[in-house]
Amino acid sequence: MVKRLKNYIGGEWVEASTDNYIPVLNPATCEVLAECPDSTYADVDQAVQAATAAFEEWRSTPVLSRAQYMHHFKNLVEERFEDIARTVVEENGKTLDEARGEVRRGIESIDFGIGVPLLMRNDGVEDISSGIDETTVRQPVGVFAAITPFNFPAMVPLWFLPTAITCGNTFIVKPSPQTPISMDLLFELLDELDLPEGVVNLVHGGIESADAILKHPGIAGISFVGSSPVAKKVYEVGTAHGKRVQAQGGAKNYIAVMPDANMEASVRNILGAAYGCAGQRCLAAAVAVGVGDAYDKLRDELVKQVANLRVGYGLDETTQMGTVVSQQAKERIENMIQKGLDEGASVVVDGRGYSVDGYENGTFVGPTIIENVTPDMTVAKEEIFGPVLALMRADDFDEAVDIINRSKCGNAASIFTSSGKYAREFKYRVKAGNIGVNIGVAAPSASFPFGGQKDSFFGDLHGQGADAIDFYTDRKIVIERWL
Ligand code: NAD
Repeated sequence: MVKRLKNYIGGEWVEASTDNYIPVLNPATCEVLAECPDSTYADVDQAVQAATAAFEEWRSTPVLSRAQYMHHFKNLVEERFEDIARTVVEENGKTLDEARGEVRRGIESIDFGIGVPLLMRNDGVEDISSGIDETTVRQPVGVFAAITPFNFPAMVPLWFLPTAITCGNTFIVKPSPQTPISMDLLFELLDELDLPEGVVNLVHGGIESADAILKHPGIAGISFVGSSPVAKKVYEVGTAHGKRVQAQGGAKNYIAVMPDANMEASVRNILGAAYGCAGQRCLAAAVAVGVGDAYDKLRDELVKQVANLRVGYGLDETTQMGTVVSQQAKERIENMIQKGLDEGASVVVDGRGYSVDGYENGTFVGPTIIENVTPDMTVAKEEIFGPVLALMRADDFDEAVDIINRSKCGNAASIFTSSGKYAREFKYRVKAGNIGVNIGVAAPSASFPFGGQKDSFFGDLHGQGADAIDFYTDRKIVIERWL
């Protein structure tokens, strides 16, 4: 019997009010792992009611006690670390090492949540006027929700939930219906904490439940992570319904490689950035721009090193690159490669039609390199979200910066160079939220804000770091006279 997932609402596992279930597949084996309910407005409403009912008691629970729950949660996640990582591999297709990295990053976000008692402190001034004191206090806001993507099913919800609830809010998570099982497992652990009923809630589903979150009057704010068109919709609909929204969108990340870069080490790093998680991460390297003489060396070194990448089932410890998430994703990625070729690019390493012995039904796309890519081509503009690296030429540094800044996305950009001058210019001029210098994946740690610019982010307060505290609290100014 395949497990039918339930929602977790008001401290109970409850069946969704739908007959519509979405199969969750292991992309390497095509085995059905579970069935995910396509929850309705009624299910979201039930979760909002439970979260609303829990809010007053929870906000008045001392912040140190709220942090202690997260401390306990962290210990449970550590105990089940390997189970969570294996679950991520099974439903997402990435490698075990990548999944372990994901869970570790999730734990770092729980750690950040444990720090909320310190971070919620505020300031004040005595005698702002004669005998009058003025202070600021931070207060929780109410019910928040997160709508999250398939590519980091354990980590992305943890960017939000621990900080939001430790700030004193109550919370609803709607994970991706493609990869809902990791969050289901994390909610089993949250259930063990004996939090007051309704503080954390899980609603599984697709667009209907997401839309219900955007419009429900009982939800104060939304943290969203996903593709740019959906992020834009979430921002527009959510704010039109009176909510604060932080919506992290898709990406098209460029890497500039200067002639003075250490090519062997740079390419090792670029390979990880392009093909880690089979290219399915918002910080993946999508386009490498070889500047001047660097181009040919970059291309040759990439071709040499990519040949050694071991593609296979993520649960096999020797695998270095797993599957993409689904058959539809595989078809979309392969069609994008073809579109690039139709528009004049040429293929250097072709990962289409890739098959792995023993996993013939697996949704593998081999590492792919295409060259002669120009800025106007679809493969240079649109997110492919697969293991495809496009190569472009630039005559000099200025042209590389110009190419990068023409992108409609601005999630991340990196430069590989041994010149401090170019590194500084790059940091200064490139329009992207995360900049890497000799680092292919510029992933901010939990205490720094995470978020892009341009079409990669809609909102003003980013996820993580100090922004998260601002997002999940209201600041109230108190002016007092006791004369
Ligand atoms: P997606 O936009 O298809 O889905 C994300 C979430 O939105 C899911 O929960 C999904 O059920 C819901 N959703 C989908 N369509 C919707 C609609 N029309 N209305 C309302 N809700 C809808 O994204 P995905 O394919 O799951 O994830 C991959 C995308 O996420 C990529 O574009 C990637 O770059 C992006 N991403 C961004 C970041 C970041 O921090 N900027 C991090 C991870 C992933």
